[in-house]
Amino acid sequence: MELQTESEKQLIRERYEDMLKSSSKKLTDTDLKLIDKAFNLANKAHMGVKRRSGEPYILHPIAVAKIVTHEIGLGTKSIVCALLHDVVEDTDYTIDDMERLFGKKIASIIDGLTKITNDNVDVNSSKQAENFRKIILTLADDIRVIFIKIADRLHNMRTLDSMEAKKQNRISSETIYIYAPLAYRLGLYAIKSELEDLSLRYRKPTVYQEISDKINASEKHRVQMLNHFSLPIIKKLEDSNIKFEISGRPKSIYSIWKKMNGKNISFDEVYDLLAIRIIFDPYEGIPEKTQCWNIYSIITDIYKPKPDRLRDWISTPKANGYEALHCTVMGPNGHWVEVQIRTRKMDDIAERGLAAHWKYKDMDATNQENELDKWIKEIKETIDTSQDSTLELLDEFKMSLIMTDLTVFTPKGEMHSLPKDATVLDFAFDIHTEIGIKAIGAKVNHKLVPLSHLLSAGDQVEILTAESQKPTWNLLDIATTAKAKLAIKNALKAEEKLNIENGRKILDAAFDKLGVVPDNAIINKLLEVYEMSSKEELYSSIGEQKISLENLNRAIRKNSNRKLVRYWRFQFGKVDANKKTGANAAENANRHEPAALPKHEVQSYETATCCNPIPGDDIIGFLAPDGVVKIHKSTCPEGVRLMSQFGDRIVNTKWTSQKKLSFLARLEIHGIDRMGVINDLSNVITHELMVNMSKFHLESHDGVFNGYIEVYIQDLTHLNDLSANLMKIKGMDSVKRTEIVED
Ligand code: MN
Repeated sequence: MELQTESEKQLIRERYEDMLKSSSKKLTDTDLKLIDKAFNLANKAHMGVKRRSGEPYILHPIAVAKIVTHEIGLGTKSIVCALLHDVVEDTDYTIDDMERLFGKKIASIIDGLTKITNDNVDVNSSKQAENFRKIILTLADDIRVIFIKIADRLHNMRTLDSMEAKKQNRISSETIYIYAPLAYRLGLYAIKSELEDLSLRYRKPTVYQEISDKINASEKHRVQMLNHFSLPIIKKLEDSNIKFEISGRPKSIYSIWKKMNGKNISFDEVYDLLAIRIIFDPYEGIPEKTQCWNIYSIITDIYKPKPDRLRDWISTPKANGYEALHCTVMGPNGHWVEVQIRTRKMDDIAERGLAAHWKYKDMDATNQENELDKWIKEIKETIDTSQDSTLELLDEFKMSLIMTDLTVFTPKGEMHSLPKDATVLDFAFDIHTEIGIKAIGAKVNHKLVPLSHLLSAGDQVEILTAESQKPTWNLLDIATTAKAKLAIKNALKAEEKLNIENGRKILDAAFDKLGVVPDNAIINKLLEVYEMSSKEELYSSIGEQKISLENLNRAIRKNSNRKLVRYWRFQFGKVDANKKTGANAAENANRHEPAALPKHEVQSYETATCCNPIPGDDIIGFLAPDGVVKIHKSTCPEGVRLMSQFGDRIVNTKWTSQKKLSFLARLEIHGIDRMGVINDLSNVITHELMVNMSKFHLESHDGVFNGYIEVYIQDLTHLNDLSANLMKIKGMDSVKRTEIVED
């Protein structure tokens, strides 16, 4: 049987030649020879195989090659790889064959393409995630792999009709989930839109059809309006000798659907928003930016601009390289019209993305290329070092794709691109991991803000750091970028490791001192006594000085069903009715006289979290039925309630001994804001008094700061010392202990 009929041969030839003709680059004889070689090999390899549509399979690689060169603007190597992209996967040829025939580079790109399989499984399955992991990893090797992969996907989407419905759905979902955002991130706007539209067409055929019909129905009216709007502009631009093109920007079906859905508005409301694009050929010798602004000025002489809708993507291009000047003006019928102004080159880059950069050889090392390189590098680092599951990773990667960018500045005017929801902390990590770890707050536009502060476009951000700052789990809630989260996790792990090592050493030394050789039984007893779930947790708590070993001797001798006094030893006795604190005398007067010292056996003690008493505070103890004594401040409302209702269960409680262990207290601070006040604060807290800070919150308005710190302190004297020292800070107005409230 003949593998290819004459008419098939002719069709293949035609398509192949059409692809060569539409190449965006001038192909030399050497180029053509190499491309021919690839084509002949692919044609032979796929010979006799048909696509689902009945076409010879080779038409697919040819179409992908055409997209790669014509729509993305890539050169010879990419055409070759596109032609060969399914050869290794679907036929008997190997990567070694490719290397032998076409060299190392081409073989490695094909290898990358082959690794990313087209074997689509459910969008949420981990196999799919694994596939994306490969996509991302190959990003850093050679970005052409991804461009070709996107072209492959685009052609598959264009020919999805012949697929069975189930497969259509899977492929469309994958396309909208990852390929469209990826195309956007790489600056391939036109392809991104097409992928979105095609995907919508298969996922929501009715919606797609409806919108598409409405567009067709209203097209005539829209064109009339645009013409009416454009005529005066065209005339003025011609008068100014500007070479330009003006076009009504067609809205994609997907973007209309998204707007209707997201803002819950009708088709007409979305579609009424007109947009035109002016593409011009700039004069040499005058900065392009100046020429864009000149056109802006011509247009706004005719139509009134909406000031808050001006977007200058020329001075600060988007991270994916997009450059243009956008403005919105009031059209003749009282309609808002968006006008995009770009040079031919900007337009080319906008439509074809990064690949178009290569066309413009005279371009100096541009910021946007660096940004993209940086992004790819970061993603790769995240994947290389992350221990998260692939699915989590995929989500983070996906987030980094879809979040639109925000440009903020250092005090020296350096630009940083961050995702839309970036916080001060993300910015700190974007500058440097070390700065992120040591960050305690920032000045945003000269105002003091906490690490969780959300950044806005154009903010000037100065990060404030403290040497003593340690990573905490809280930071993970504040960070949004994958980079920051990863760095925090790594720092926490390092910190934990250090605590475990230190704790082990401290414990070993303590056993040594007691002359005890620890065995499993002893360690298990300690776990029980200190209520720890693992050896690591025990070591780490000791290393962090969360638990003290002063009672070690007793702890290891204790009956295991009894719990050790965890923080403080209290002296218990009968409540002395005459020694009640005066503050709540009225309420106390009603309560029952306490019975004689309760004979309940005291099992353990806890400080109440409602009032967080610290040594030195006046306290009362409430003996709960389970034998645990809860310690409240004598002024605590809950303590007072208990006293009034269960007088016989109140035990007289006094602080008797002190250990190096810590209690949480909150201090409200208030003062005059000035440079360095945070540094002074943290110096007093961490250096002078060796206090461990758990929370720090500071807000500054009109030169005055308000905030609080939560610190672990030893006792009331310690706290008073701290307050006194804080008061010595220049500008400090008041320091007051307050209740700890969850915020
Ligand atoms: Mn393919």
